[in-house]
Order: sequence, then C-alpha cells, then structure tokens
Amino acid sequence: MTNIIIWNENIHEVENEEVKKIYPNGIHGCIKDFLSTDNSLKIKTATLKEDQNGLSEELLKNCDVVIWWGHKAHDEVLDKTVDLVQRRVLEGMGLIILHSGHHSKIFKRLMGTNCNLTWREFGEKERLWICNPGHPICEGLEPYFELEMEEMYGEPFQVPSPDETLFTSWFEGGETFRSGLLYRRGNGQIFYFRPGHEAYPTYHNINVQIVIKNAIHFVKQKNKVLWEDIHSPTPKSNRPKPIEKISKKGFSVGHPTEEK
Ligand code: ZN
Repeated sequence: MTNIIIWNENIHEVENEEVKKIYPNGIHGCIKDFLSTDNSLKIKTATLKEDQNGLSEELLKNCDVVIWWGHKAHDEVLDKTVDLVQRRVLEGMGLIILHSGHHSKIFKRLMGTNCNLTWREFGEKERLWICNPGHPICEGLEPYFELEMEEMYGEPFQVPSPDETLFTSWFEGGETFRSGLLYRRGNGQIFYFRPGHEAYPTYHNINVQIVIKNAIHFVKQKNKVLWEDIHSPTPKSNRPKPIEKISKKGFSVGHPTEEK
C-alpha cells in the first residue's frame, strides 16, 4: 500500500466561479478522483487553511508521496510545514510538484535557486514531447501529447540541472520549456511536472493523469532512513568511535554545538 497526500492551496477554486466550474471539488478533489482507480493507493488530501496546513508530523511520518499544487499563497505556507516536508524528503518521502508549485517555498528550499521562469496566460496549445520513452514515468504514453489550452511557461527556468529531463514542452507561441524534471535530494526523489494551470481542464486530461499516476510509483522509495539523530543540534553520530586504534594528535579548539 502506498500512502499519499494531495496538498492543494485551494483558493482559486473557492474564490473564482470559472475555476470552480472546472474543479468543483478543488484540484485536489479532481486528482483524488482519477487516482481512486488505483487500488494500491491510500489517498488523503490536505489544504492550506487547515490547521498546520493540514500536514502534521504524524501524518507525514506515514506518508510515501506528497503531491503539491500552490499558486497565489505560497507565502502563507508555514515555515514549520516546509521544514517538516523537507526533512521527510531527505529521509526518502517522494514529492511531486505541479505547475505553479515551482515558486512554492518547499520547491525553492529543495532546489536552492529562485526557480523563476517566463510565462504568458493566453490559452495556448502545449505539445509535450517524451524525452525518455523507456522511463517508468513515461509508460503508456505516445511519443508526444497535446493540451489544447495551457498557460505558457518558458526558459530560462532557473533551477539546478536536473538528474533527468523526462518531458520538454513546445507552445503555440514558439517557446519551449523543460516540463518534467527529476531530482534527488538526500534519500528522496522529487518530480516537477509543468502542466496544470487552474483556468484550464488540464487534470481531466488522460495523459496528464497517466504521468501523475506513474510518477507516484516512481518517486516512492522502498527504503527510508530516519535521520532524527542527524537533525538534533548535537548529533552523536557525527562523532563516531574510531574503528582502528588511533592516538590523538594536534589540538582542538572545540565546536560551537559541542556538549560540555
Ligand atoms: Zn498557472
């Protein structure tokens, strides 16, 4: 069984009638619906306005994969939530960042860059090309698929070079964009997937659904490490007893976090 949490800001769907028509139960509700056909998934949802952003330590401890959608309220996500999610990713929890999540606190934290890009909201056709048809995330897809209306995201996408680029997008206006990127951070696997502007029915598209389903199974790690000791301010595991017999040479001036 794979435990997943679909996290959504859930503001556009509440405030905007047009968006509400496309996603009456929120973007998280739509994603939950199409994932429900996969019996190996145990699905929970969480939203920004819930207590602790809906993401407690207890909940994340048992979570294999978090899916993240946010746009206009990235700054309202608690730093404590970002710390928790980052820690769990380093321990081995999978993370799928969708669309405008490129500017979320958690993605920027894990990338270490501003994650800026160029964009245009014009309802353009997007053609996504599959860069590695042999990759598990691309299973079941044709060489390319199209979305009739999408927001354009263009290069330069200011992220670190990914471990692998799985999709590149071409837009009607002429721009191209690296739209499916894999990163490893600590023991965790991160997948960034570009499509998903709130004003278009992108998450109702079968190919987008296939990618998200495949990605969940790919970013889930079988083996997680618990780094609680490493996260402590004075981790004892940083000062292991030597395996070989050694005699101390030189001198030490002490370390700021050294226990007295
Ligand atoms: Zn957007």
